[in-house]
Amino acid sequence: MDYPRSYDVIVIGGGHAGTEAALASARMGCATLLLTHNIDTLGQMSCNPAIGGIGKSHLVKEVDALGGAMATATDFGGIQFRVLNARKGPAVRATRAQADRALYRSAIRRILENQPNLEIFQQAADDLIVENDGQRDRVTGVVTNTGIRFRARSVVLTVGTFLGGRIHIGLDSHSGGRAGDPPSIALAERLRELPFRVDRLKTGTPPRIDAKSVDFSGLEEQWGDQPLPVMSYLGRREQHPRQVCCWITHTNSRTHEIIQGGLDRSPMYSGVIEGVGPRYCPSIEDKVHRFADKDSHQIFIEPEGLETCELYPNGISTSLPFDVQVEMVRSIKGFENAHITRPGYAIEYDFFDPRDLQASLETRHMAGLYFAGQINGTTGYEEAAAQGLLAGANAALQARGKEAWSPSRDQAYLGVLVDDLITLGTKEPYRMFTSRAEYRLLLREDNADLRLTERGRALGLVDDTRWAAFCRKQEAIAAEEERLRSSWVQPGSMAAEAINPSLAQPLTREYNLMDLLKRPQLEYAQVAGLVGEPVADEQVAQQVEISAKYAGYIDRQKDEIERLRTYEQTEIPADFEYSDISGLSNEVRQKLSDARPATLASASRVPGVTPAAISLLLIQLKKRG
Ligand code: FAD
Repeated sequence: MDYPRSYDVIVIGGGHAGTEAALASARMGCATLLLTHNIDTLGQMSCNPAIGGIGKSHLVKEVDALGGAMATATDFGGIQFRVLNARKGPAVRATRAQADRALYRSAIRRILENQPNLEIFQQAADDLIVENDGQRDRVTGVVTNTGIRFRARSVVLTVGTFLGGRIHIGLDSHSGGRAGDPPSIALAERLRELPFRVDRLKTGTPPRIDAKSVDFSGLEEQWGDQPLPVMSYLGRREQHPRQVCCWITHTNSRTHEIIQGGLDRSPMYSGVIEGVGPRYCPSIEDKVHRFADKDSHQIFIEPEGLETCELYPNGISTSLPFDVQVEMVRSIKGFENAHITRPGYAIEYDFFDPRDLQASLETRHMAGLYFAGQINGTTGYEEAAAQGLLAGANAALQARGKEAWSPSRDQAYLGVLVDDLITLGTKEPYRMFTSRAEYRLLLREDNADLRLTERGRALGLVDDTRWAAFCRKQEAIAAEEERLRSSWVQPGSMAAEAINPSLAQPLTREYNLMDLLKRPQLEYAQVAGLVGEPVADEQVAQQVEISAKYAGYIDRQKDEIERLRTYEQTEIPADFEYSDISGLSNEVRQKLSDARPATLASASRVPGVTPAAISLLLIQLKKRG
């Protein structure tokens, strides 16, 4: 049947990409349908129940700055919060929260169900409706497995690991989207008929363990930070549920012997799995095999929630046969009598070459069709959520006949993520690291709102409450900086005497407080309290301190960005013929033709493209006018 209502945007898949895509489109005022296999698994974390971490919290905070749900759901679901790299510079500091799987899911569902302009429908999408508008193919709707035809102006596909999903435990394998969920076979077959480049990747998860069967007495405890961090810019500590402890244990030489002994029945080492796995999140058999000289690997034991006994042993993801999993787990300190509640497994799935996407995440081959999340070759909830928000916003912009938006590499990690994917593609599951960003001192987790909220407001993504809080914060930062710049400390004064012991040499001339704050030995509260009162708002104090202490480095990065801006602004037409440029080597021509970079700056990041080639390209582009 034809459904009696048509939508601006349909989002397929209710995972981390899909929920942010649907929310973004609906916040922008578009009539949106979220079509997903199972309403009860909206926002489900397929693997470890944790959000954030290095590089990833930066994405979560960017999603938050643009009005998304992930950070808020984490504040309501987080049962242990820590700031990683707290003693290092602000660029690499990262908030990580252990989440109660059920609380996180219900927070996401609550946000979705209360979002105006958004309808949810439970059913599998089996097919896309494609029409030709005379120039190119355009997607105009979706057909479900019971034959319901939903029409829309644009469609966002976010089906995660479900396309052609195949689950492996030892040499046994079966079709599945993730344990307990069906795969998307019909849709995968249909998409393979369309002109997208498809390949296989794999990922894995550890066995879960019943806490009642664990001996915690000899294990190292790990508590969260105090004061308790929050994830959202609008988050409050009171939103957090009860906080709990995690534990640390280790594998040992006996564990490694058991694993080595089971490798002949490992789907990875016997050649059954062909997809490439995440290098940065290897299975325990991979770690034991690749780092044969190490006789121990750390395992973080993380509770799955407040109302469950299940534990997530972070660090022993595996697809070894179940009998080997039992023996391996029971060789580990604390797990001697452990009962496994769910076996570990690996999953292979289809992903699409992200070089077939534009920066808006619209596919190059089919107008109105956007891809986001794991299907673009990424791994991780945060990477998926960030792409989902962008794809949902752009699908909404297109439905409204407006121009697409994508942040640049100097604006957001989201810009880095998308540019890396569409320019370089990926051969293994791509995850975010701070080292991927060249301007990481500007792209901090503490300032994502200052970088993006204004843009989000202009796009219609940011509501009045967030906007008002953001404006108040900006004003408070400006006022405090001005106060510090106009408050002076004289040598020999009581204020000078108060800070002299912290300094290598006593003050010999007059300083304003902003300049004093540049000194590495002095902290904000110490300096701001010398004249008047420090501000109470921690976010404001943090911005003032960072902008004083890192002003020199930040200015240098801004100068570099200005220099490169010409390259960013020089667009390369989609039909540009690289074979017309004389002087380019065949290799560079081929690489550029494959990558089809949208700008000269993107072209310069294609591996193997030399500065000389970029100069030739620039001349040719100028000639074309
Ligand atoms: P998903 O969260 O998978 O959501 C896809 C959604 O689409 C689901 O709701 C599904 O029901 C729905 N759907 C699928 N097909 C259809 C259809 N035809 N019609 C309607 N709805 C459909 N990430 C890490 O960072 N570290 C890890 O160690 C890690 N290990 C993992 C282990 C396993 C076993 C799995 C499955 C995933 C793992 N991940 C890991 C990846 C992480 O789960 C994903 O990156 C993240 O969930 C991707 O989000 P997504 O929104 O793209 O897809």
